[in-house]
This record gives sequence, C-alpha cells and structure tokens, in this order.
Amino acid sequence: MAANWKMFGAAAQLQVFADALQLDDRVDAVWFPPALYLGAAVAVAPQGLACGVQDIGTSASGAHTGDIAAEMVADVGGSWAIVGHSERRMLHNEGDDLVGTKTAAALRGGLNPIVCVGETAAERDAGHEKIVVQRQLEAVLDRIDHGQLASISIGYEPVWAIGTGVTASPEQAQEMHEFVRQLLSEADAQMAAEIRIVYGGSVKPGNAAQLFAQKDIDGGLVGGASLDAADFTAIINAAAQAR
Ligand code: PEP
Repeated sequence: MAANWKMFGAAAQLQVFADALQLDDRVDAVWFPPALYLGAAVAVAPQGLACGVQDIGTSASGAHTGDIAAEMVADVGGSWAIVGHSERRMLHNEGDDLVGTKTAAALRGGLNPIVCVGETAAERDAGHEKIVVQRQLEAVLDRIDHGQLASISIGYEPVWAIGTGVTASPEQAQEMHEFVRQLLSEADAQMAAEIRIVYGGSVKPGNAAQLFAQKDIDGGLVGGASLDAADFTAIINAAAQAR
C-alpha cells in the first residue's frame, strides 16, 4: 500500500504520522513524502514501513541541477520510486520515453519503481483507455531488461479519478488491471502473475475493500487519504482483509 503525500506535509507531521500509523504484516506499506523529507521519514518510519520518492532523475550523478538520483535515494535509505505519475506527465511534460528511462534509472539505482499509467477523461470518453495504457506500458517494457520485471509494480491511475473524489468502479478498475496483466504476460507470463498492479484514484476507507476484492487489484496508491494516518491505517486493514 503506497502513501503518496504529493507536495503536502511538513517536517513536524512526519513523526506524528509514523506514531499514529498501524501496519499489518500481511500488507507491504510504502511512504512517499516530498523528497526533501525522505531522510527524516526514513529515520522515523516504524519497522515495516518502507520509504521512497515521488520522482527521480535519469542519471546516477552529474550536472543535473535539481535532480535526485535513484542511487542517492538508496543512499539515504529509500527503496522505492514512483515514476510516470500523471501529475509529472501533465505538469512537467514527461512523455512515455522519459518515464521508461526513469523506470530503468530506478532499477539501476536498486529501487523498486511503481510505474503509473492511466488515461484522461477525454481519452476514456473516446474509448481509448486501453490504447493509452498499452502505449505507456510498452514504452517502459522497451527500456528495461525483462529479467527485472519482478522489481516493478504498476499503478493504474485513471487521471479523472486522481484527487477528484470520483473513483473508478471496481469493475472498471478490474478490467484495466486485467488488461495490464495480460500485456505484461506477453513479456513474461510467470512474472505477470506475480507483479503487483495497484489502483490509484480517490481510494478512501469507504471504497478500498470493494476495490481490493477484485482479482487483479493487488493494492492501492493513495494520495489524499494517506495524509491522515487513521484513514491510511483503515485502507491497510482493507487490503489485509482482502488477502
Ligand atoms: C495519487 O496521488 O496518485 C492519487 C491517486 O491521489 P488521490 O488518492 O488523492 O486520488
């Protein structure tokens, strides 16, 4: 279960969140605070709560002012990176090729990437949701060694559901997750059965159980509700019950 704090939170909130959160050892939990707070989050995270960043640069080091290398994330105790979040794609013009390169960079640095894919409302209205997700996923598969697939997770995040309070129905989400798994199985059938495909888009305590009950939904990428330790704990509990 992933907690994406986006550009929210403050240093004083880290300890409060870490103290209030209740984990379940049946559920892997990862905390993605703003990158500036990563070291502090690692220091206060309870046993069983991994930490990561919401984006990474493509190089291991060099003249890339403002970028953060996957290797540096690992150096301060982070183990995960979100790549291709729709807010990066839209607000920073990150294209499919760059997302693929960032996924490879995360793997190179020893991180576990969560690769985000998902269509906009206009793309869904045009009936293009699968075309879009396939294009996004193939750009990643083209840039990584398929032997590394076990280290990645996919986040299916329909853009129209992120931060809007409108969640994909469990059936809509399941259909897309099944499609993603089928695409992955063309790269490696055995691995595709094991790869985690998590759903993101207005996951809340009230809808988490129904979503996680779907066959191909292996967890959640949670934005707004993850800022509240009680809500995030409830979502972790829903995932634990679904196992
Ligand atoms: C996200 O940040 O990726 C996300 C899905 O946000 P929210 O849960 O607020 O929709």
